[in-house]
Amino acid sequence: MRLFVYDIPLTVGFRGITHRSGVLFEGPAGWAEWSPFPEYGDAEAATWLRAALEMAQEGYPAPVRASVPVNGIVPGLPPAEAAARSVASGCGTVKVKVAAKGESIDDDVARVAAVRDALPHVRLRVDANGGWSLDDAAAALRELEPMGLEYAEQPCASVEELAALRAMDLGVPIAADESIRRAGDPLKVKEAGAADIAMLKVQPIGGVRACLRLAEQLDMPVVVSSAVETSVGLRAGIALAAALPDLPYACGLETARLLEGDVTREPLYPVDGELPVGEVIVDPDLLAAHAAGPALTRFWLERWERVR
Ligand SMILES: [Mg+2]
Repeated sequence: MRLFVYDIPLTVGFRGITHRSGVLFEGPAGWAEWSPFPEYGDAEAATWLRAALEMAQEGYPAPVRASVPVNGIVPGLPPAEAAARSVASGCGTVKVKVAAKGESIDDDVARVAAVRDALPHVRLRVDANGGWSLDDAAAALRELEPMGLEYAEQPCASVEELAALRAMDLGVPIAADESIRRAGDPLKVKEAGAADIAMLKVQPIGGVRACLRLAEQLDMPVVVSSAVETSVGLRAGIALAAALPDLPYACGLETARLLEGDVTREPLYPVDGELPVGEVIVDPDLLAAHAAGPALTRFWLERWERVR
């Protein structure tokens, strides 16, 4: 099997990284992406690899819908830029990143307010990536609630804090993301009553079918989200969203534009807030154009040998 290591710059800073890299390969069922973040250990990377092998070898379960609604994503930008990006997304749902390091609740409130002013009728959600303390989260949600939020994603880091925040009943539903995909036991969120909504990501959970099983066990509404992948990896997220029996919320799969390039001539950019369910055709010239340099290639090939 031939492995292609890609290295693509990001259009905006994200988790402190400026490039996204990973391995792409083709199996009997189609193209696959394996792109655990570089700092993740081998055990976590092995779960991501199970997802990639499913993409290549098994393909995807039958879809129950032909397209998937997605949210526009607004990174931690100043208010005017945040508003402009949310309008440019053309999506009926917008997710605003909050609680970035070095920013205050006032910064968060100003960003969300600017988006709300620009788009009075959009469905609005925030994602704190666990960055607020319990007190900060409560203070922030009290200020943000009147702007109309459909939910707050991972406002605090721990399951216990999420449960305590949810018990305060501040009028904003709580979604769990990191508490599901990076916790030893993803069902802890349910047992603790820590969330109303579960974010599921295909690679971190080990595949589309693993996500479908987990969704059934969690027995709460699911939002499918990406791990900021090329369109090859995004395709797996779309397959999951397309196969879920119920999909009450727009998904976090509008991330192709966070990458400066892609490996297909038709990247998965939404049209009118929807992504189609269909093939992603990988272009050999684009694979070559985004090939990683020797050191990064060696990193990924060694990692592959250790983890597979
Ligand atoms: Mg998140």
